[in-house]
Amino acid sequence: MNIQENHNLEIIVSNIYKRYRECIGQGKVADYIPTLSTVNPDQFAISVATVDGFQYSIGDYTTGFSIQSISKVFTLAMLSSLMGDDIWKSVGREPSGNSFNSLVQLEYEKGIPRNPFINAGAIVITDRLLNYSKNENNQVTGLSTRGRAKESILNFVKELAGSDDIEYDKITAQSEILTAERNFALAHLMKSFGNIENSVNDVINTYCHQCSITMNTQQLAAAFLFLANGGINPLTGKEVIGKRNTKRINALMMTCGLYNESGDFAYRVGLPGKSGVGGGIVAVIPGKLSIAVWSPELNSNGNSYRGIKALEDFTTDLGISVF
Ligand code: GLN
Repeated sequence: MNIQENHNLEIIVSNIYKRYRECIGQGKVADYIPTLSTVNPDQFAISVATVDGFQYSIGDYTTGFSIQSISKVFTLAMLSSLMGDDIWKSVGREPSGNSFNSLVQLEYEKGIPRNPFINAGAIVITDRLLNYSKNENNQVTGLSTRGRAKESILNFVKELAGSDDIEYDKITAQSEILTAERNFALAHLMKSFGNIENSVNDVINTYCHQCSITMNTQQLAAAFLFLANGGINPLTGKEVIGKRNTKRINALMMTCGLYNESGDFAYRVGLPGKSGVGGGIVAVIPGKLSIAVWSPELNSNGNSYRGIKALEDFTTDLGISVF
């Protein structure tokens, strides 16, 4: 994008920020994970990053928050380069039409989750990641311990974001583990169908840690740039995943990234995106940029109320979406 386009981007984003700065009290901060209920609802940040190196942020963009389900994109990207197409024997690629932590379809569909972005699907992805470990030469070896898996997930995210200042929030992870009855239920049900290979405790422990990763919008926009750039991290020039897997992950974000609100998000925003119950949403315009928005109040589908509004205005004001 040229200087004029970057300037335009800056004006559009700062106007959206001003437009919605006072928009609070419309949704509800997630409270089923106890530590999330203590987050100040009146926080709002937007960051954009373009594939050619321009960045602009406004609001609380240096404040870290729990990325929650946004982490599912990172683990899927990691696993797709390790496991290839075999992933799709264990997880589907269709929207579920149900809430992110629903159990109902899993019984009918014999323990194969609809897609990798609902909890059940992400839990399978994390389970398979536990099967891989890397030695000091970065070669994939055998079975991982949960400690090794957690370390590789965090390193993967740090490298994508180009930042060392990203950590697990151990208090949030513990808080979620203690209240993760539905996630344990999903994992046990899938294990009864043979679709979880490791111990349920190890899998849920790792899954709750990946959800507790704390990042700000600036780091998240940077970390998603590879999906706007054909799988290459523009910060390092390294291929993260191939072009084909990039196309696929973007397609899955478009169709399943906001759970049972994915259709409405495609209609209103027109971009592949991924949300989390911490109030973050990240979206990409392939070939151009990524945008991360954070506002903790959620709508009834568990997606950021103000985040969706901001993204809807962003593609409308910019006049660009994937459509
Ligand atoms: N950690 C959350 C859970 O498993 C993630 C859900 C979300 O962000 N939608 O319930």
